[in-house]
Amino acid sequence: MSSESKETNINVVVRVRPRNQKEIRENSPIVISTSGVKGKDLHVKANPSDPQSKTYSFDKVFGPDADQQMVYDEVVAPILEEVLMGYNCTIFAYGQTGTGKTHTMEGDLTSCAGKDAGIIPRTLYRLFDKLEKEDSEYSVRVSFLEIYNEELRDLLSPDDPTVPSVKLKIFEDMNRRGSNEVQGMEKILVNSAQDVITILQKGSNKRQTAATKMNEASSRSHCIFTITVHIKETTSDGEDLLKVGKLNLVDLAGSENVGRSGAEKGRAKEAGMINQSLLTLGRVINALVEKGLHIPYRESKLTRLLQDSLGGKTKTCIVAAVSPAKCNLEESLSTLDYAHRAK
Ligand code: ADP
Ligand code: MG
Repeated sequence: MSSESKETNINVVVRVRPRNQKEIRENSPIVISTSGVKGKDLHVKANPSDPQSKTYSFDKVFGPDADQQMVYDEVVAPILEEVLMGYNCTIFAYGQTGTGKTHTMEGDLTSCAGKDAGIIPRTLYRLFDKLEKEDSEYSVRVSFLEIYNEELRDLLSPDDPTVPSVKLKIFEDMNRRGSNEVQGMEKILVNSAQDVITILQKGSNKRQTAATKMNEASSRSHCIFTITVHIKETTSDGEDLLKVGKLNLVDLAGSENVGRSGAEKGRAKEAGMINQSLLTLGRVINALVEKGLHIPYRESKLTRLLQDSLGGKTKTCIVAAVSPAKCNLEESLSTLDYAHRAK
């Protein structure tokens, strides 16, 4: 980790998945390797005959054998501590479609701590476990939003998701600058991790159904799952102290339409597939890393929603997901470049 990334509180990790059936069948060689299950370096060798590989360093690199528990322990556990102290934090899953973003974020949603449970169920399980052990009063609320084509959809609303929701509007809380709220969005009060799992499964199914019905590619939408925790503590001199922390867990749209320059690729542009939120997120992160004076939060829905959880005292982690196979090398390099720029 460079000293700069410490100051900006942005961590960048890479997760390399195993080769999938298709890549194995096509005999696509492994061109991206790691130093064991978990390390800091990633090696790229475009051709097996190349004498040397190019090494990229990140805050952490997970190899194909890293499991969900390991990713949770290394990436999420320290962030959950921050949230419990009253900070806002965000974890993004970034990468080409099919590289493991949803596997990392949601994984198996049938149990909270099963082997394949991803970041969201594990976080909820650990969160309630910790809260129940303390004797302070607390409340936990969750929301689940999807952004498709710069339109918001509430995945927890009982309304038909195929009808664009006109109710949802982002407005700025005048008392807390940068804290944008979504008017009309469900914020469900939950009492246990299992409660949330049931809610989450419904939301996740809703995303699929809506995309299918409307003939959309769900790979082009962003999903933001937000956990808000209120904790009331009594200080030693008997005063009440309210801590409010927020954790945004974001499964981003597939990065395949964003080129290595960070601009939209030609074909995507022509087809009108500009992903304003994905492009703006890159610009916002670069501006934060470079300590720019102007951070373009307002240029997309995603960055407006996350404005109070990106920059300043917040902690952010980007999990860049890549395939190890040669057939996906171009996209993987694109992802690694994007991730590297955020360091
Ligand atoms: P994305 O959300 O990026 O499009 P998915 O998470 O849906 O990709 O992953 C595509 C497929 O690869 C899924 O079947 C998923 O279970 C599998 N997969 C992804 N990452 C891993 C991993 N680290 N280990 C095992 N299987 C994985
Ligand atoms: Mg996905």
